[in-house]
Amino acid sequence: MTATFHAGAAQRIITPDLAAGPVYLAGFQTNRPATEVHDDLYARALAIRADEELEGSAQPPCFILVVCDLIGILHSDVLAVRQAVRERGIDPGGLVIAATHVHSGPDTIGLWGPSRWRSGVSADYQAFLRGQIVEAVVEAVHGLRPAHLRAGTCTMEGWLKNARQPEVVDREMSVLQATTVRGDPIFTLVNLACHPEVMFGENTEVTADYAGAACQAIEGERGGVGIFASADLGGMMTPDVGKHGRSFETVWAMGRDVAIAALAALDAGRDLEPRSPRFSRREVTIPLENPLFRFALWIGLLPSLTRNRDGDVVSQVSLLDLGPLRLVTIPGELLPRPGMHLRRLLGVPYRFLIGLADDELGYLLPSDEFVYPRNPFRPGDHYEETMSVSRYAAPLLAEAWVALLADAAQDR
Ligand SMILES: [Zn+2]
Repeated sequence: MTATFHAGAAQRIITPDLAAGPVYLAGFQTNRPATEVHDDLYARALAIRADEELEGSAQPPCFILVVCDLIGILHSDVLAVRQAVRERGIDPGGLVIAATHVHSGPDTIGLWGPSRWRSGVSADYQAFLRGQIVEAVVEAVHGLRPAHLRAGTCTMEGWLKNARQPEVVDREMSVLQATTVRGDPIFTLVNLACHPEVMFGENTEVTADYAGAACQAIEGERGGVGIFASADLGGMMTPDVGKHGRSFETVWAMGRDVAIAALAALDAGRDLEPRSPRFSRREVTIPLENPLFRFALWIGLLPSLTRNRDGDVVSQVSLLDLGPLRLVTIPGELLPRPGMHLRRLLGVPYRFLIGLADDELGYLLPSDEFVYPRNPFRPGDHYEETMSVSRYAAPLLAEAWVALLADAAQDR
């Protein structure tokens, strides 16, 4: 029997209600209350499964990816959503929840409240957010139908720069599209490494930035649900706005160019042979080293960080194997140098790095360039280190990715 892919997709609005109380925008400085909504924020979900389940397999029946227009989602929220999804009768074993890392959305972490000492997280908003993610997952899974999958890859010209290390820029763009058997798009997933921060620290309007604009452009051009996932955008892959300046016109121009490049990559790409997706996950334990984060925990700014009894941070990484396409998850902001190394390790033509997935541990720097500044409030060239759990985070995660890949190779 020939296997067939099944695919589904859905989206839910997750824009905070500005009338319900102050909404502190996350990223850049503290105390940046939102003044209006420029465009809505979304949780965008896709689901993939094969029609035959492997005999006696421990595999989850379905791979599900949700990407939210947010600064990040901590692991404790991910665990709560998985539990709620299970209560709706869906196996969450293959569920990954990521954030685009947009810098014009509500504080969902706790570091960007009214002052350095006060969290900007709203418990009511977090509950609303978790509910909307669950609804998107349920609709995507209930909408699973026979589908073709097609993948593409290209180099994104223009728009990207590395503000920390200008000579290291990861321009690889990966695209995955599911269409119905009649050819109508179900979803188009785009994966690129660049902070959604065309609108910078002066902006006070809620927006999904260029990532949302790219999704809108894809949906307008081809239909289906557009989904943008950030890749190895750490320290410091950021929009090269150049002469355009920072405006919503620039947001739209960059989003449109990302969409055009993604659709061209798909057109030049190839259909994937139907096969059972192989999904695997590993837990990673990382010592919490950063004195700033320890202090933030102590004063109650990071209540949601998931830790074990020794106080170490507990997080997860996952690998999806679809043959010539591999997708790996990163629980934070990996720098492009280790990011490009990880792509090579994946060893396939279509390589997805889903950043800020299932957690936000901050910047993940190679240990040889990790220098913690003497005064973390005046970090100079070493700001990224002050927004990272530990110098050991990236090497420990790399160990877990290598182990996942070794398991996958054994199964092939
Ligand atoms: Zn960042």
